[in-house]
Amino acid sequence: MAQNDIVDTTAAYSSPNASPLTLTSTPDTALVAAAKALTSARYVVAMTGAGLSAESGIPTFRGDDGLWAKFGEPRMDGYKRFLDDPHGWWRREVTQTQDPYVLELRRALEQAQPNPAHHALAGMERSGVVKTVISQNVDGLEERAGLTRLIEVHGNRSKYRCIGCGRRTPRDTFVPPAELPPPCSECGSIVKYDSVMFGEPVPPERMAAARAEIDRADCVLAIGTSVTVRPVSGLLWIAEAQGATVIEVNPNETRLSGVCDVVVRAKAADALPGLVSLLSAGT
Ligand SMILES: [Zn+2]
Repeated sequence: MAQNDIVDTTAAYSSPNASPLTLTSTPDTALVAAAKALTSARYVVAMTGAGLSAESGIPTFRGDDGLWAKFGEPRMDGYKRFLDDPHGWWRREVTQTQDPYVLELRRALEQAQPNPAHHALAGMERSGVVKTVISQNVDGLEERAGLTRLIEVHGNRSKYRCIGCGRRTPRDTFVPPAELPPPCSECGSIVKYDSVMFGEPVPPERMAAARAEIDRADCVLAIGTSVTVRPVSGLLWIAEAQGATVIEVNPNETRLSGVCDVVVRAKAADALPGLVSLLSAGT
């Protein structure tokens, strides 16, 4: 099976919530079923995960090719260590002496470009098919592709955030801050990257905003998410429990696959442009 082929799912669905849309039989049938579900929905929310970023060359943490397999799993108390010594953390940042996996991730983030799936998703927002995108990624590629109704629950590495007042500001890429740790111009507290560190709570207002969108959604499009990162992944289960139609686009089976109404077993960069074509053709 070619990896880029859009194939139907062969998984057996036993969920009581599974609908006839689940029963796909040819490669394109899953996409057609997804397009029909999207057009018949009242309020579609998309959720994106690391798989979407991986298609832009950003390594994932988990998985056989992930950063943790290569460098070992890092300590999960990154935020505590930042709070204990923000000056030292920033010193390591500007001298590029952070953990090796951080340096590799940073290099990939700096080179990454939005892929066809990001652009297709932006097109779906412009045409009104998708109302909001909840992103678990920190690369900012959704924003760069032109998405505007975007909730970046884990932050955006191209921005700074004050840990005191929460103010987000764009950063001048690759220019080290003049003062370490950089102070917030608003409240004088400490500024860090907007991206959520290990052990750092997701800013509650972002989770609340994401939950509010899930509560409005009667259809959720889960793109490239492994459905393992808490608390965000829980939103998909909430959507499913609330009766939303759940569409998964993922080359790999996930814990969510068995309860999805439609599974498009493909890379997002292959599936989403095809989905946009079907939507514009009025499928
Ligand atoms: Zn502040």
